[in-house]
Amino acid sequence: SSSDSLQPLESSISDEERFKDVASLTLQCPSCQQKFLFGGIVASKRYQMSYSGLQCSSCQHTFAPLQMSAQLESAIRSHISMYYAGYLVCDDSTCGNNTRQISVFGKRCLSENCMGVMRYRYTDKQLYNQLLYFESLFDVEKNKKDALKPLYRPDHPDAPEAKIPTSQLLALGEQNRELFQVMSSVVQKYLANCARRFVDMDAIFAFAVAN
Ligand SMILES: [Zn+2]
Ligand SMILES: [Zn+2]
Repeated sequence: SSSDSLQPLESSISDEERFKDVASLTLQCPSCQQKFLFGGIVASKRYQMSYSGLQCSSCQHTFAPLQMSAQLESAIRSHISMYYAGYLVCDDSTCGNNTRQISVFGKRCLSENCMGVMRYRYTDKQLYNQLLYFESLFDVEKNKKDALKPLYRPDHPDAPEAKIPTSQLLALGEQNRELFQVMSSVVQKYLANCARRFVDMDAIFAFAVAN
């Protein structure tokens, strides 16, 4: 039932497992236009969390909070609109091909050189889980515990060679707490709407069952 999707997930499930099917958050540097996957306070070849916020590793630009939150909000909105549109989406997170078109080759992605598979997005549970994933990226405690879903598999060419040392991770978490709270509140606004819709559906079904 729809209420099942709102049950708190087992705390024993790691974020890596819980969020295995979610799309990554892609951000773009407003200065040099480099696109990169954002995975919280983790080692990356494309960006770094500094004591004064998110910094592009390509041009050293430090994002203003609004440059970060506007992109997060835009990503959330695109996921919500895909949910409503019933689009197919490529399962390769670096591809980003969204279409209503079905390939004559079955479910293969039609983007050039992409080996991804097109899937329907979304179930309401997937959308909810996607929003929870975005929220997790800005969870200071989770970041400090190094408990976020890794951005890359260890054998991926973009996988960083070393992790951020724990003492640095703890300090960066605290220094970015205010920024992360702003980012987190952006996600929570949509999570609340998402949850309310499920509750509304429960109310409708309860009425139907009662009659
Ligand atoms: Zn840049
Ligand atoms: Zn693709």
